[in-house]
Amino acid sequence: MEEIKIKSGTVYQKADGTYCWDEAKALESFNVKRKCSCGAELQNYYSTQCWECKRREQDAKQRERISKIPVIPWDGKTPLFNDPSDTFIMDEDDLQNFFEDQEPGDYAFIVCVPNAWRHLDYDYWADEMPDNMDELPKKVEEAIDNFNAFLDTLSPISYRPGYAHKVILNSEDYR
Ligand SMILES: [Zn+2]
Repeated sequence: MEEIKIKSGTVYQKADGTYCWDEAKALESFNVKRKCSCGAELQNYYSTQCWECKRREQDAKQRERISKIPVIPWDGKTPLFNDPSDTFIMDEDDLQNFFEDQEPGDYAFIVCVPNAWRHLDYDYWADEMPDNMDELPKKVEEAIDNFNAFLDTLSPISYRPGYAHKVILNSEDYR
């Protein structure tokens, strides 16, 4: 006996009388434009939300995520990041510039974490190394070790928002 597996679910009849599993494709065949819950016409048959609603939903999710991040006091030095405006604050001058364009009030800033200088790996030249060579010459390895030790003495190359802590600052304290 031959077993035939049949997918269960809803089938949709298309304009030409044939059937398909895909509601969007069926609607497309009738040239029916689907609408977003806000009433806007959708750009294509496959999206369920218009671009504007999608952006609003993502913004709301991000606001909720940020609202849950614990608040710590600011040390006045660590770089900060204002998420809604995508702005890095490296010092108090940046903060004053930022608040110049804002309504008075409390603002949340994500505390940044440093990006260290990435170490040079021994396999940096792996693509160029001949097949019969599986290790770098000792003096090259030593030079890399020394170079990496030097990198560790440098200040961070940059900062990124850590999303582990935030500070709340009032615009009136920085005008
Ligand atoms: Zn919409």
